[in-house]
Amino acid sequence: MKISRLANGSPEIFHTLQGEGPSLGAPALFLRLSLCNLHCHWCDTPYTWNWEKTPWQHQDGIKFSKADQIIELTPAEIAPLISRHHCDRLVLTGGEPLLQQEELLELLKLLPDLPFIEVETNGTQIPGDDFLALPTQFNVSPKLSNSGMSGSLRLNFEALNHFAVLPTAFFKFVVCDQNDLKEVEALQEKLNLPPNRIFLMPEGRDPQTLQTRSLWLADICRDQGYRFSPRLHVLLWGNERAK
Ligand code: SF4
Repeated sequence: MKISRLANGSPEIFHTLQGEGPSLGAPALFLRLSLCNLHCHWCDTPYTWNWEKTPWQHQDGIKFSKADQIIELTPAEIAPLISRHHCDRLVLTGGEPLLQQEELLELLKLLPDLPFIEVETNGTQIPGDDFLALPTQFNVSPKLSNSGMSGSLRLNFEALNHFAVLPTAFFKFVVCDQNDLKEVEALQEKLNLPPNRIFLMPEGRDPQTLQTRSLWLADICRDQGYRFSPRLHVLLWGNERAK
């Protein structure tokens, strides 16, 4: 499996609090997979995809060495690195973790006693039946046009409709300004989502930006019945990696 690699050479596996979405504040172990099929210009994990000699644009303007940023491990090598933390919640994140869903299935078969598994996905990949049979919560974050990605790349309605009918799937939208709300409402209608399965989260990688955007976004959530998600890890630790 291609796992994000920290500067000290170890895989990006870290014990923290879930900072976003329906399980906000819950102690959780994160496994960050490398690779993404999208290239959002405000992405907070560009080291999972913005490789040297690629044409992709990111607002930081920094390219990463693929060799330096990926560690390849087998599911059998990763499983003990997870189980030694004795954490009952595993969050599979990226990048886009469902690009490696076959390998993730193998890994999860080696961790049969995990009561809570969350997958953070951009909603473009369809999980297979074996994956859906697991006790998995999907935190689906379809990207809006503020990501800089074209609609044909960021919105896969076959996949989104799949998630929309799953009671264990929640939708989380990254919001930059009030114009984004029209896109959220259009997707809500198209996917027939009740507002209480929708989280609106301010875009930002520093506490000041989040604070500014949270003030008006919280009002919108209150008035429209959406759920508000802060970015707890950014408020606590800024843009620090593996937090
Ligand atoms: S989908 Fe997520 S991980 Fe991929 S580029 Fe966009 S924000 Fe980053």
